[in-house]
Amino acid sequence: MSILEVKNLHKNYGKIQALKDVSFSVPKGTVFGILGPNGSGKTTLLGVITDILKASAGTYTLFDENPTAHHRSLMGTFLETPNFYHYLSAVKNLEIAAAIKQRGAGDIERVLEIVNLTQRKNSKFSTYSLGMKQRLAIASCLLGNPDVLILDEPTNGLDPVGIAEIRELIKKLQQEGKTIIMASHMLDEVEKVCTHMAILKKGELIVTGRVDEILSHEEIVEIGAESLSQLQQAVTLFNGYNSQKSAGKRILLYYPVGEANLAQINQHFFTQGVVLTHLLVKKKSLESKFFELTN
Ligand code: ATP
Repeated sequence: MSILEVKNLHKNYGKIQALKDVSFSVPKGTVFGILGPNGSGKTTLLGVITDILKASAGTYTLFDENPTAHHRSLMGTFLETPNFYHYLSAVKNLEIAAAIKQRGAGDIERVLEIVNLTQRKNSKFSTYSLGMKQRLAIASCLLGNPDVLILDEPTNGLDPVGIAEIRELIKKLQQEGKTIIMASHMLDEVEKVCTHMAILKKGELIVTGRVDEILSHEEIVEIGAESLSQLQQAVTLFNGYNSQKSAGKRILLYYPVGEANLAQINQHFFTQGVVLTHLLVKKKSLESKFFELTN
């Protein structure tokens, strides 16, 4: 089942095209990351699927059906840090949130427990750390036990401990069977917490699919020889790598992880009369992968 399916979505703000023909599908039970640099259209996309914004063109389905109020009642959203009352406790703030949402009034103790705020439930919101405030915001989303959570940059501004807590919380919610759709501009975060992703760049979808497939860490073998032209000639007679490119006086061979056989590479070039003066295996960094995907 698809929790969300976006089809050829466009959104214009006057002349600005914030979303350009975006299509992807979010399978049930996944943690789905919408990744992109600032201004790539992530918030706009979440705004459209939560009915805050109207698409200029295109459609989407929720739970494989045309969206209705019932479908939206199965979704908890956290698009910006809610305006909790600073002088009220977590419990009081959640009581107000439940009254506004008209759901989850009997659910407050449960959601506080999930986000690990039970011990501080009667403290004033103003005494909370930023991480606790974000967790309270997630608790508010969880009121009424929705199947789907939509979170915009849930770790924004948090320190490493706060980030780790939110990550663990998201994983725990997924294990309980929830589907989580989250926007992020941090590749590292998406890699650590998401199972699936869509990468946006300037409103366009660059790639979508499983995180482990999109971010597979390629292995790079860097080779060099006295004569670059002889080396290039020998590379054309060699196979087994995904792709190759020149880098100054060296050539880079790209392999799937674990498939580069150095002895075999060395043997091939030697047989072709080329003595390698340089043979080095490198892992491709995530940053360079992201750069490559978005540039
Ligand atoms: P960020 O991470 O900075 O929030 P984002 O990926 O969420 O960025 P959006 O906020 O969706 O991106 O913005 C996408 C584009 O649409 C940007 O060029 C932005 O300036 C523009 N935009 C967003 N909201 C409006 C608006 N209300 N009016 C005009 N332009 C807008």
